[in-house]
Amino acid sequence: MPLAYLYHPDCLLHDMGTGHPERPSRISAIEEKLRVSHLMDLARYYEAPLATRQQLARVHGTKYIDTVLNFEGKEGYTYLDPDTMLTPQTPQAALRAAGALTHATDLVLTKKHNVAFCNIRPPGHHALRNQAMGFCFFNNVAVGVAHAIEEYGLERVAIMDFDVHHGNGTEEIFANDPRVMLCSTFQHPFYPGSGADTVSDHIINVPLPAGTTGEKFREAVTTQCLPALHQFAPQLIFISAGFDAHEDDGISMMRLQVDDYIWVTQQMLEIADKYAEGQIVSTLEGGYELQALAQSVAAHLKVLIRA
Ligand SMILES: [Zn+2]
Repeated sequence: MPLAYLYHPDCLLHDMGTGHPERPSRISAIEEKLRVSHLMDLARYYEAPLATRQQLARVHGTKYIDTVLNFEGKEGYTYLDPDTMLTPQTPQAALRAAGALTHATDLVLTKKHNVAFCNIRPPGHHALRNQAMGFCFFNNVAVGVAHAIEEYGLERVAIMDFDVHHGNGTEEIFANDPRVMLCSTFQHPFYPGSGADTVSDHIINVPLPAGTTGEKFREAVTTQCLPALHQFAPQLIFISAGFDAHEDDGISMMRLQVDDYIWVTQQMLEIADKYAEGQIVSTLEGGYELQALAQSVAAHLKVLIRA
């Protein structure tokens, strides 16, 4: 079983209301697609555990962690930013999402699996050290990366973030940590507005104009991300796998197709094979058009499984 598939039904509990694009059906649509396409037969299912406070505190402030976790069991809801609503069920879902990343990291680094995919929500890459943002509460991928560094002593960990939005939370958390390379491709100018002017040799920001096609995306990844990743020689690769740059996704104006997600996943696998013993931990970020999302995830996993 090459693929570890991490999920937990608690991730469905967090619900920001009718009409909100970051909705529970996103992960159900993916799970259904993996089932009918028999990709699930090639994966081993693991229940995502709850992240511990200690695991979260590697990348988030304790006061902020309390703000989120203490809302459990309360009534009503509160907005932590204009589109990010904290509900009484959010803490449970957010802990599962972050816990999926630590467990996926364990499964890969103890060689039980080469690759892992976390079908979880809420997503994480906008979550700052001390602030929820852009549908995100805890920065799941950052929790996984910090776990790999602290528990396994890794010295070079790369994150490829191909979500259509800049991975600003991940950037903030690792801005001063040269053990982590972040490559983020994103529509710009666009939400959250950051990323165009970062100057750092381990934060590779690739702003792309609205209307960018797969061809231009591949060109940008080839010229800007891949050389940096080769030079960095990561011991483990994380993927912040957002599929909202798909042409059919109404949230952005990018024009990627399923083939482009296949291509970028192949590139990551090549880097992983060369430097990281083929080890990749991928986690869901954005992607809001259910059919495009489910198809893209299935294609992404098919590459990771080498099916
Ligand atoms: Zn996004």
